[in-house]
Amino acid sequence: MPELAEVQNFVNSINANFLGLTVNNIKFHRENLRYPFDLEQLNNVFAKGSSFKKVFREGKQLVIETTQGAVNISLGMSGAFKAIENNSKKIEKHQHVSIYFSNGSGLAYIDPRRFGFWKIRDAKMDQGNAICDPLDERALNVVFQDSSITVKNRSIKEMLMDQKIIGGIGNIYALEALFLARISPFRSCSSIGQKEWKILANQIPLMLEKAIAFGGSSIASYRSFSGNKGNFQELHQVYGREGQKCLRSKCSGLIARLPQGGRSSWYCPNCQK
Ligand SMILES: [Zn+2]
Repeated sequence: MPELAEVQNFVNSINANFLGLTVNNIKFHRENLRYPFDLEQLNNVFAKGSSFKKVFREGKQLVIETTQGAVNISLGMSGAFKAIENNSKKIEKHQHVSIYFSNGSGLAYIDPRRFGFWKIRDAKMDQGNAICDPLDERALNVVFQDSSITVKNRSIKEMLMDQKIIGGIGNIYALEALFLARISPFRSCSSIGQKEWKILANQIPLMLEKAIAFGGSSIASYRSFSGNKGNFQELHQVYGREGQKCLRSKCSGLIARLPQGGRSSWYCPNCQK
Protein backbone atom coordinates (compact mmCIF):
# COMPACT_ATOMS: atom_id res chain seq x y z
CA MET A 1 0.00 0.00 0.00
CA PRO A 2 1.49 3.38 -0.94
CA GLU A 3 2.40 5.22 2.24
CA LEU A 4 3.46 8.80 2.81
CA ALA A 5 6.97 8.43 1.37
CA GLU A 6 5.64 6.89 -1.85
CA VAL A 7 3.02 9.61 -2.24
CA GLN A 8 5.64 12.30 -1.63
CA ASN A 9 7.78 10.73 -4.33
CA PHE A 10 4.97 11.00 -6.86
CA VAL A 11 4.39 14.62 -5.78
CA ASN A 12 8.07 15.44 -6.32
CA SER A 13 8.17 13.70 -9.71
CA ILE A 14 4.99 15.36 -11.00
CA ASN A 15 6.20 18.77 -9.82
CA ALA A 16 9.55 18.23 -11.50
CA ASN A 17 8.07 17.10 -14.83
CA PHE A 18 4.64 18.66 -15.38
CA LEU A 19 4.36 21.96 -13.50
CA GLY A 20 3.22 24.81 -15.78
CA LEU A 21 2.55 22.54 -18.78
CA THR A 22 -0.63 23.16 -20.74
CA VAL A 23 -3.18 20.35 -20.72
CA ASN A 24 -4.40 19.15 -24.09
CA ASN A 25 -6.94 16.65 -22.81
CA ILE A 26 -7.71 14.11 -20.11
CA LYS A 27 -9.15 10.65 -20.67
CA PHE A 28 -10.86 8.41 -18.14
CA HIS A 29 -10.69 4.80 -19.33
CA ARG A 30 -13.40 3.54 -16.98
CA GLU A 31 -16.30 5.01 -15.03
CA ASN A 32 -15.09 4.53 -11.51
CA LEU A 33 -12.36 3.53 -9.11
CA ARG A 34 -13.41 3.27 -5.47
CA TYR A 35 -16.08 5.87 -6.31
CA PRO A 36 -17.53 6.91 -9.67
CA PHE A 37 -15.57 9.65 -11.41
CA ASP A 38 -17.37 13.00 -11.43
CA LEU A 39 -16.54 13.40 -15.11
CA GLU A 40 -18.10 16.77 -15.65
CA GLN A 41 -16.15 18.44 -12.86
CA LEU A 42 -12.93 16.50 -13.46
CA ASN A 43 -12.98 17.39 -17.16
CA ASN A 44 -13.35 20.98 -16.10
CA VAL A 45 -10.36 20.94 -13.73
CA PHE A 46 -8.19 19.40 -16.49
CA ALA A 47 -9.82 21.27 -19.38
CA LYS A 48 -7.87 21.96 -22.57
CA GLY A 49 -5.71 25.03 -21.94
CA SER A 50 -5.52 24.59 -18.18
CA SER A 51 -2.13 23.97 -16.56
CA PHE A 52 -0.71 22.39 -13.40
CA LYS A 53 -0.22 25.13 -10.80
CA LYS A 54 0.81 23.15 -7.76
CA VAL A 55 1.04 19.52 -6.67
CA PHE A 56 1.33 18.67 -3.00
CA ARG A 57 0.72 15.96 -0.45
CA GLU A 58 -1.93 16.07 2.24
CA GLY A 59 -1.48 13.13 4.55
CA LYS A 60 -1.47 10.18 2.17
CA GLN A 61 -3.45 12.00 -0.52
CA LEU A 62 -1.96 13.81 -3.48
CA VAL A 63 -3.49 17.14 -4.52
CA ILE A 64 -3.22 18.43 -8.09
CA GLU A 65 -4.15 22.08 -8.40
CA THR A 66 -4.65 23.36 -11.93
CA THR A 67 -5.58 26.85 -13.10
CA GLN A 68 -9.19 25.56 -13.20
CA GLY A 69 -9.57 23.89 -9.81
CA ALA A 70 -8.11 21.05 -7.77
CA VAL A 71 -8.52 17.33 -7.09
CA ASN A 72 -7.60 15.16 -4.11
CA ILE A 73 -6.25 11.82 -5.25
CA SER A 74 -5.95 8.75 -3.05
CA LEU A 75 -3.71 5.97 -4.35
CA GLY A 76 -5.71 3.40 -2.40
CA MET A 77 -3.93 0.03 -2.25
CA SER A 78 -2.00 0.10 -5.49
CA GLY A 79 -2.22 3.47 -7.27
CA ALA A 80 0.77 4.94 -9.10
CA PHE A 81 1.65 7.66 -11.60
CA LYS A 82 3.76 7.19 -14.66
CA ALA A 83 5.04 9.36 -17.50
CA ILE A 84 3.61 8.37 -20.89
CA GLU A 85 4.02 9.38 -24.51
CA ASN A 86 1.41 11.67 -25.93
CA ASN A 87 1.13 9.84 -29.22
CA SER A 88 1.06 6.30 -27.86
CA LYS A 89 -2.28 4.70 -28.71
CA LYS A 90 -1.71 1.81 -26.36
CA ILE A 91 -3.19 1.90 -22.89
CA GLU A 92 -1.34 -0.15 -20.32
CA LYS A 93 -3.30 -2.72 -18.32
CA HIS A 94 -4.85 -1.00 -15.26
CA GLN A 95 -4.23 2.46 -16.71
CA HIS A 96 -7.40 4.32 -15.73
CA VAL A 97 -6.61 7.99 -16.34
CA SER A 98 -4.39 9.65 -18.96
CA ILE A 99 -3.54 13.35 -19.10
CA TYR A 100 -1.94 14.66 -22.29
CA PHE A 101 -0.02 17.92 -22.51
CA SER A 102 0.49 20.22 -25.48
CA ASN A 103 4.28 19.71 -25.41
CA GLY A 104 3.88 16.02 -26.26
CA SER A 105 4.30 14.58 -22.77
CA GLY A 106 1.68 12.75 -20.75
CA LEU A 107 0.86 11.48 -17.27
CA ALA A 108 -0.96 8.23 -16.52
CA TYR A 109 -2.64 6.96 -13.38
CA ILE A 110 -2.35 3.18 -12.93
CA ASP A 111 -4.22 1.26 -10.22
CA PRO A 112 -4.63 -2.54 -10.46
CA ARG A 113 -6.80 -2.91 -7.36
CA ARG A 114 -8.84 0.27 -7.97
CA PHE A 115 -9.17 1.32 -4.33
CA GLY A 116 -7.92 4.81 -5.17
CA PHE A 117 -10.11 7.81 -5.90
CA TRP A 118 -10.09 11.18 -7.68
CA LYS A 119 -12.29 13.67 -5.87
CA ILE A 120 -12.94 17.30 -6.63
CA ARG A 121 -11.28 19.30 -3.90
CA ASP A 122 -13.73 20.98 -1.61
CA ALA A 123 -13.07 24.65 -0.84
CA LYS A 124 -13.55 23.66 2.81
CA MET A 125 -10.50 21.41 2.61
CA ASP A 126 -8.32 24.49 2.17
CA GLN A 127 -9.30 25.94 5.47
CA GLY A 128 -7.76 24.97 8.71
CA ASN A 129 -6.16 21.71 7.58
CA ALA A 130 -6.01 20.59 11.18
CA ILE A 131 -4.40 17.22 10.57
CA CYS A 132 -0.78 17.09 11.68
CA ASP A 133 1.86 16.45 9.00
CA PRO A 134 4.33 13.83 10.24
CA LEU A 135 7.26 15.58 8.54
CA ASP A 136 6.77 18.51 10.89
CA GLU A 137 8.49 17.91 14.23
CA ARG A 138 6.97 20.98 15.83
CA ALA A 139 3.44 19.96 14.83
CA LEU A 140 4.09 16.46 16.19
CA ASN A 141 5.21 17.92 19.50
CA VAL A 142 1.97 19.88 19.72
CA VAL A 143 -0.04 16.69 19.14
CA PHE A 144 2.03 14.75 21.65
CA GLN A 145 1.39 17.38 24.33
CA ASP A 146 -2.35 17.30 23.78
CA SER A 147 -3.75 15.65 26.88
CA SER A 148 -6.88 14.50 25.05
CA ILE A 149 -4.54 12.23 23.09
CA THR A 150 -1.84 11.38 25.60
CA VAL A 151 -4.08 10.26 28.45
CA LYS A 152 -5.83 7.69 26.27
CA ASN A 153 -5.52 4.01 26.98
CA ARG A 154 -5.28 2.98 23.38
CA SER A 155 -1.95 1.78 22.03
CA ILE A 156 0.67 4.20 20.82
CA LYS A 157 0.82 2.44 17.45
CA GLU A 158 -2.92 2.76 16.87
CA MET A 159 -2.74 6.48 17.72
CA LEU A 160 0.17 7.09 15.32
CA MET A 161 -1.84 5.45 12.53
CA ASP A 162 -5.03 7.43 13.27
CA GLN A 163 -5.42 9.52 10.11
CA LYS A 164 -7.64 11.97 11.97
CA ILE A 165 -4.70 12.91 14.20
CA ILE A 166 -1.59 12.52 12.03
CA GLY A 167 -1.91 12.32 8.26
CA GLY A 168 0.06 9.64 6.50
CA ILE A 169 1.64 7.17 8.92
CA GLY A 170 0.77 3.55 8.11
CA ASN A 171 1.84 0.23 9.57
CA ILE A 172 5.43 0.17 8.29
CA TYR A 173 6.40 3.66 9.33
CA ALA A 174 4.62 3.48 12.70
CA LEU A 175 6.61 0.36 13.57
CA GLU A 176 9.91 1.75 12.29
CA ALA A 177 9.45 4.99 14.25
CA LEU A 178 8.58 3.13 17.46
CA PHE A 179 11.71 1.03 17.10
CA LEU A 180 13.85 4.15 16.68
CA ALA A 181 12.24 5.66 19.79
CA ARG A 182 12.66 2.38 21.73
CA ILE A 183 8.94 2.21 22.48
CA SER A 184 6.92 -1.01 22.27
CA PRO A 185 3.96 -0.70 19.86
CA PHE A 186 1.75 -2.30 22.52
CA ARG A 187 2.22 0.46 25.13
CA SER A 188 -0.77 2.64 25.87
CA CYS A 189 -0.49 6.35 25.11
CA SER A 190 -1.01 7.13 28.79
CA SER A 191 2.16 5.22 29.72
CA ILE A 192 4.47 7.24 27.45
CA GLY A 193 6.69 9.74 29.26
CA GLN A 194 7.48 13.32 28.21
CA LYS A 195 10.98 12.39 27.13
CA GLU A 196 9.70 9.51 24.99
CA TRP A 197 7.16 11.74 23.25
CA LYS A 198 9.96 14.17 22.41
CA ILE A 199 12.15 11.44 20.97
CA LEU A 200 9.26 10.10 18.92
CA ALA A 201 8.46 13.57 17.52
CA ASN A 202 12.12 13.90 16.57
CA GLN A 203 12.51 10.45 15.02
CA ILE A 204 9.34 10.31 12.87
CA PRO A 205 10.33 13.11 10.43
CA LEU A 206 13.95 11.91 10.26
CA MET A 207 12.82 8.40 9.38
CA LEU A 208 10.29 9.63 6.80
CA GLU A 209 12.82 11.97 5.13
CA LYS A 210 15.09 8.99 4.75
CA ALA A 211 12.28 6.85 3.34
CA ILE A 212 11.45 9.58 0.80
CA ALA A 213 15.11 9.86 -0.19
CA PHE A 214 15.21 6.11 -0.75
CA GLY A 215 12.10 6.16 -2.92
CA GLY A 216 9.78 4.58 -0.38
CA SER A 217 9.24 0.94 0.47
CA SER A 218 8.62 -1.41 -2.39
CA ILE A 219 5.96 -3.56 -0.85
CA ALA A 220 3.95 -5.71 -3.26
CA SER A 221 2.94 -3.70 -6.29
CA TYR A 222 4.46 -0.35 -5.43
CA ARG A 223 6.55 1.28 -8.16
CA SER A 224 7.94 4.77 -8.15
CA PHE A 225 7.28 7.24 -10.94
CA SER A 226 10.32 6.12 -12.89
CA GLY A 227 9.12 2.51 -12.67
CA ASN A 228 11.83 1.58 -10.19
CA LYS A 229 11.14 -0.17 -6.96
CA GLY A 230 11.79 1.96 -3.92
CA ASN A 231 14.49 0.55 -1.69
CA PHE A 232 13.72 1.85 1.78
CA GLN A 233 12.72 -1.69 2.69
CA GLU A 234 16.43 -2.49 2.79
CA LEU A 235 16.62 -0.06 5.69
CA HIS A 236 13.69 -1.52 7.63
CA GLN A 237 14.85 -2.21 11.15
CA VAL A 238 11.87 -4.26 12.27
CA TYR A 239 9.18 -4.52 9.57
CA GLY A 240 9.16 -8.01 8.05
CA ARG A 241 12.18 -9.15 10.09
CA GLU A 242 10.68 -11.60 12.60
CA GLY A 243 13.20 -14.04 14.06
CA GLN A 244 16.17 -11.96 12.90
CA LYS A 245 18.69 -10.22 15.09
CA CYS A 246 17.89 -6.73 16.31
CA LEU A 247 19.99 -4.21 14.37
CA ARG A 248 20.57 -1.93 17.35
CA SER A 249 24.19 -2.20 18.39
CA LYS A 250 24.72 -3.99 21.67
CA CYS A 251 21.16 -5.41 21.65
CA SER A 252 20.98 -9.19 21.56
CA GLY A 253 17.21 -9.32 21.00
CA LEU A 254 15.37 -11.08 18.18
CA ILE A 255 12.64 -9.28 16.28
CA ALA A 256 9.18 -10.60 17.21
CA ARG A 257 5.95 -10.45 15.24
CA LEU A 258 2.60 -10.29 17.00
CA PRO A 259 -0.91 -9.53 15.79
CA GLN A 260 -2.23 -6.13 16.81
CA GLY A 261 -5.54 -4.62 15.76
CA GLY A 262 -5.95 -6.92 12.77
CA ARG A 263 -2.42 -6.35 11.46
CA SER A 264 1.08 -7.48 12.36
CA SER A 265 3.42 -5.63 14.65
CA TRP A 266 7.16 -6.25 14.49
CA TYR A 267 9.35 -5.06 17.34
CA CYS A 268 12.33 -5.94 19.49
CA PRO A 269 11.05 -7.12 22.90
CA ASN A 270 14.55 -6.54 24.28
CA CYS A 271 15.14 -2.86 23.53
CA GLN A 272 11.62 -1.54 22.99
CA LYS A 273 10.08 -1.02 26.38
ZN1 LIG B 1 16.76 -4.65 20.17
